[in-house]
Amino acid sequence: MPLTLRIEGDRWRSHLRRTAETYGVVGQGIVPVVKGNGYGFGLASLARRSAWLGADAGVDTVATGMYEEVPELLSRFAGDVLVLSPWRPFLSEVPDGDRVVHTVGRLDDLAALGAQRPGARIVVEALTTMSRHGLPRHELAAATDLVRAGRLRLSGLALHLPLVGEHEPEAEEWAAVLEASQLDTSTMWVSHLDAQQIGRLRARRPRLLVRPRVGTALWLGDRGALTVRATVLDRHPVSRGDRVGYRQRPLPRAGHVLVVAGGTAHGIGLAAPAAGSARQRALALARGGLEAAGMTLSPYTVGGRQRWFVEPPHMQVSLIFVPAGAGVPDVGDEVDVAVRFTTTTFDHIEIG
Ligand SMILES: *Cc1c(COP(=O)(O)O)cnc(C)c1O
Repeated sequence: MPLTLRIEGDRWRSHLRRTAETYGVVGQGIVPVVKGNGYGFGLASLARRSAWLGADAGVDTVATGMYEEVPELLSRFAGDVLVLSPWRPFLSEVPDGDRVVHTVGRLDDLAALGAQRPGARIVVEALTTMSRHGLPRHELAAATDLVRAGRLRLSGLALHLPLVGEHEPEAEEWAAVLEASQLDTSTMWVSHLDAQQIGRLRARRPRLLVRPRVGTALWLGDRGALTVRATVLDRHPVSRGDRVGYRQRPLPRAGHVLVVAGGTAHGIGLAAPAAGSARQRALALARGGLEAAGMTLSPYTVGGRQRWFVEPPHMQVSLIFVPAGAGVPDVGDEVDVAVRFTTTTFDHIEIG
């Protein structure tokens, strides 16, 4: 059980169901986003979980990041797989099949896809204030012609909105642009609007179908259902001035060095992801604490306090320092560790 994610099963599953209900209405279900490291749970697990949410909950489509991820989802989820990163003519191993929906964000690509794969299923991406991918609105007329010319089967217009700021008006504008356009669809796929904003959009535009694409708020929306623990693999009493680790830096105080599960291969980084850690670090610096001795605050908590790395994390373990006077866990005990789920690979995932 080195680095372990424990999921409180009933609580997590009811959160998933509730979230699907909150975002979805009949014919306009939530679209779970299943990509990357699977938000810490793994792609296969989230694909199966999306299947479990099921068509009854309106889950007829999942969205994934890249073409490389598609086969893993197609084999575990019976509905459609929408690929979020746009199709490009130079991509290799683009999966075929009627369940794959491509995202297209450039006129050249619409023309190329129509030529290479006439009849392919697509969504056209709009260029929002994200400025990542997509067509500006003045190109939608040309897009309409290219969709027809390539006999592409259009499933909607897709909007990817920034995480910060107020973007309901931007979504509203695009909804108006879509309705005024000749594009042969009334579906808009949106990312990063909350359930209330989606509800208002649907209420204001009853002819529009809104498909919310949701990852973090779905899978990680109830953090209380998730516990992350690192196993203590070894511990050593140390005196002030002792040199330890790859870097042999002298320790500023007496205490214990703990060897805990979790290293760079798990995604444990030098910067602790916990909220408030920047402030905590600033305070420590102001106090001339261990940071002044060249140590960095780790994401591990021992005895109720976030502890310091002795040195940067190793590949699979980290060395942390517990000063004398604090309680020291035993080998085999577990300690809390704050992780960023989208960059973490767990050794074990247990659903209780
Ligand atoms: C990753 C991604 C999402 C999901 O984002 P969350 O913040 O995890 O909900 C939605 N849309 C697009 C285009 C994405 O790339």
